[in-house]
Amino acid sequence: PHPTLLIPGPIEFDDAVLQSMSHYSESHVGAGFVKIFGETLSLLRQVVRSTDPNAQPYIINGSGTLGWDLVAANLVEAGEDVLVLSSGYFGDRFADCLTQYGAKVTKLDGPVGGVPSPAEIEKALSEKKFKLVTATHVDTSTGVLFDLKTLVQSVKKVSPDTLVIADGVCSVACEELAFDDWGLDGVITAGQKAIGAPAGLSISFFSGRAVDVAHNRKIPAAAYFANMKNWTPIMKNYEAGKPSYFSTPSPQLIHALNTAFKQLLANGIEQRIAKHVEVSDYVKKSIGDLGLKPVASRKEDQSHAMTAIYLPDGVGATDVLPKLLSKGVIFAAGLHATIGPKYIRFGHMGISAVNSNRGDIDKALNALKESLSECGYKA
Ligand code: PMP
Repeated sequence: PHPTLLIPGPIEFDDAVLQSMSHYSESHVGAGFVKIFGETLSLLRQVVRSTDPNAQPYIINGSGTLGWDLVAANLVEAGEDVLVLSSGYFGDRFADCLTQYGAKVTKLDGPVGGVPSPAEIEKALSEKKFKLVTATHVDTSTGVLFDLKTLVQSVKKVSPDTLVIADGVCSVACEELAFDDWGLDGVITAGQKAIGAPAGLSISFFSGRAVDVAHNRKIPAAAYFANMKNWTPIMKNYEAGKPSYFSTPSPQLIHALNTAFKQLLANGIEQRIAKHVEVSDYVKKSIGDLGLKPVASRKEDQSHAMTAIYLPDGVGATDVLPKLLSKGVIFAAGLHATIGPKYIRFGHMGISAVNSNRGDIDKALNALKESLSECGYKA
């Protein structure tokens, strides 16, 4: 048995996902793979709850970060204004990526453990016309959930043609997300978090109008691999069952993703989200019983993917993480500059949340209680 990986991504694998990677080598343009890849692209539509035929899925070798590049390189031209709503480290990194490609970024930061306020957002939106607004749906550094649905409404009220793009790396397949109903223009994600596939895939979904923006730029995108114009026809062809080539996909990763998507859609995405909410509530209640507090202080800002947990005074992450490991549990260290060593992160996504027979969540909570007690903390 291996230690149970309960960091906020990569997460534990279901055996079937892992086994589907051991596929014999096949041509990336052969009929068998074309069928699987095309099907996987179509399944992504269901995962983000879109039936809009103009919206476009993209699955590209890479990781979550490549999603930022797609947005920054294709949807903004140098000098255009972008509003970035940040609730931690990953919002800041998204802003860096946009800046790298020449966007003029206005960044609003939430307080540690919170989100930028609706009043601040409204004020920013009234001051300038933004080409796009981005928000991190769940910031993995803080476990803060952002209310995307309300954001889209606020943006549409003042500037209907501004694109709203979500970083869903830590939210897709575990948080409520309705691409069409909410009116989103883009969600970027990756395989290794709540989706439960191996790391190595950039998974994104853009509205028809976002694709049009990417394809009708005044100045060509300053990217080659991350150029959406190169990928749109490839993705359309695969989904239509036609072989197509721009750069070689990884058949093994696509097989794993295909299995993961089928599993998470098996009983409907709604049921899977509800299970994550149930497990998250249980984790938050349990750490509260231990006398601990989540970094995300307000209930409505707490993600259901993970919990960032403040450690008791006098206990540091470097004290408690090795003790957890000795009990077969891996949590992650903090990742927020201001509160770094004072907290740890517990990912409760995917199979560990959905398959309660595994006992991962209770194992982790018990290990946390014992480890803190070994550090001299009395609950
Ligand atoms: N955005 C968020 C919210 C993330 O959690 C991560 C990864 N932890 C990324 C982007 C970057 O993804 P990757 O590490 O797969 O490049």
